[in-house]
Order: sequence, then C-alpha cells, then structure tokens
Amino acid sequence: LISRKWRVEPTRIDLGDGVVVGEGSFSIMAGPCSIESEAQIEQVVAHLKENNVKIMRGGVFKPRSSPYAFRGMGMDGLKMFHRICRENDIKIITEVMQVSQIEEMIDYVDVFQVGARNSQNFNLLDSLGEAQKPVLLKRGISGTLEELLQAAEYIFSHGNEKIMLCERGIRSYEGAYRNVLDLNAVPVLKEKTHLPVIVDPSHGIGLRDYVESMSLAAVMAGADGVIYETHQVPEKAFSDGQQTLNFWESERVIERMRKAYDLR
Ligand code: PEP
Ligand code: MN
Repeated sequence: LISRKWRVEPTRIDLGDGVVVGEGSFSIMAGPCSIESEAQIEQVVAHLKENNVKIMRGGVFKPRSSPYAFRGMGMDGLKMFHRICRENDIKIITEVMQVSQIEEMIDYVDVFQVGARNSQNFNLLDSLGEAQKPVLLKRGISGTLEELLQAAEYIFSHGNEKIMLCERGIRSYEGAYRNVLDLNAVPVLKEKTHLPVIVDPSHGIGLRDYVESMSLAAVMAGADGVIYETHQVPEKAFSDGQQTLNFWESERVIERMRKAYDLR
C-alpha cells in the first residue's frame, strides 16, 4: 500500500492551519532533544516564530542508552508543551514509546514520532495505525530500507495513511561521528514510496558543526523536510547537546535550506 506502484500521487499530510507535509513544500521541524522547562519551550517557540517554522519537536518520553540519564518530563511536560504551542500556532511532534502512552498523549500531539529503537515494535505500529494521527517513523539503528517500508506498511494497513519516513543515520564501524546519515535513502525511498521523506541530520551525524552541511545535502537529495535539534544553550541541554544547534546556527541553516530548496 505504501508503494508507488500502488499509488503514484505523493501523499501529503495536512496538520491543519495550512501546515502540510509532503511533496510540493519543504517542511522544517526543529526544537530541543528533550522538553526541559516552560522557559525553554517559550524561548524555542519564539525562535521558531521569528523564522516562520511551524512544527516544533521535543521529547517528553526519552529512550536513553543509560537508565540513569534524563528520561523526559512525561505528561506534565507534554501538557505544557501543548499549551504554549497552541497559543503560538505551532504544531507538535514528540516521541511515543509504548502502546499505553498513545491514548494519554493523543490530544496533545500533532505528529507521533516513532524512534529508531522502536522502528520494529510491531504492536506499537499496529496501534498507531488505528490511532489515525500523523506518524513520523524513523529508520531503525541498523535498519534496512526494506524494513522501514515494511514498518510503514504496518501502520498504513491499519488505515492510517498519514506517515512520514525519516532517515536518521545508521550504525557503522566509523567512529568519527555518531551515525552515518544515509542520504542514498532519500532518492531511493522517493522512488519506492509515495510517502514523504524527512531527514534528521542531528542524529544522522551527531556533531553540531556538521549539521548544516548535511541539512543542505538533504535538501538537494530531494527530502521533503528536515527535523533537527536546536536549544537556547546547547551546552546545557539535558540530552544530545553535542549535536544541537544554537539559535544563531539554526537561523542560518533555515535560511540556507530555503535558498537551496528554491534551487531544486
Ligand atoms: C530523538 O529524536 O531525540 C531520538 C531519540 O531519535 P532517534 O530515535 O532517531 O535516536
Ligand atoms: Mn535527540
């Protein structure tokens, strides 16, 4: 069902209020790795508004490698995130980690993110298929494109067609950066499926200094959007600060990506 052979026209996902993700527009989604406080949300929202970015990311349930690391603000954080974004006409994307969270989260999110670690959590995918909310589905840490497409098929086959695929880097032997952002995936996925393809350069390379280059490369590779991490003081971020842009860097990459998209 997610194949271009079955449907030729690109899928466009309407998030309301004129915010549409998919071919024909370039979507920018930005925000901190983790939601940390009311003041933080307000500062990020102000930055996004100044740059006409309509979708904010931010995790409240965080999958962390260490159980002792910050694991997110949970529902209290999500409710605060939702209130501030609604007041400012910004859409919310945040990660859902398990089936039982869908129901409590659903009224507070615009897009559910499925993280790399949950990319093949088939019960979660089945339930998101029934939930009828847009989903951004990340590629698994060592996932093939075929596995990503099959994961999307789980959601789609339950009746939820509002799926964005996300390339976020795959694990390799290379130690110079966190992951290998597989931009090959973009044109290949665009040919195989009608679903929008989004690139996450932050997790893809994992180092702040290179996020801009890879964002621009993603635009030219044909991505329908990017999702990246930004924070008012990345050095103090509760998670992923090393790959998070400050607002000055974020503003610059937004401007350059829009110029690059116009050249495409
Ligand atoms: C994130 O978006 O902060 C995240 C945990 O991403 P991933 O699942 O791609 O590692
Ligand atoms: Mn992160």
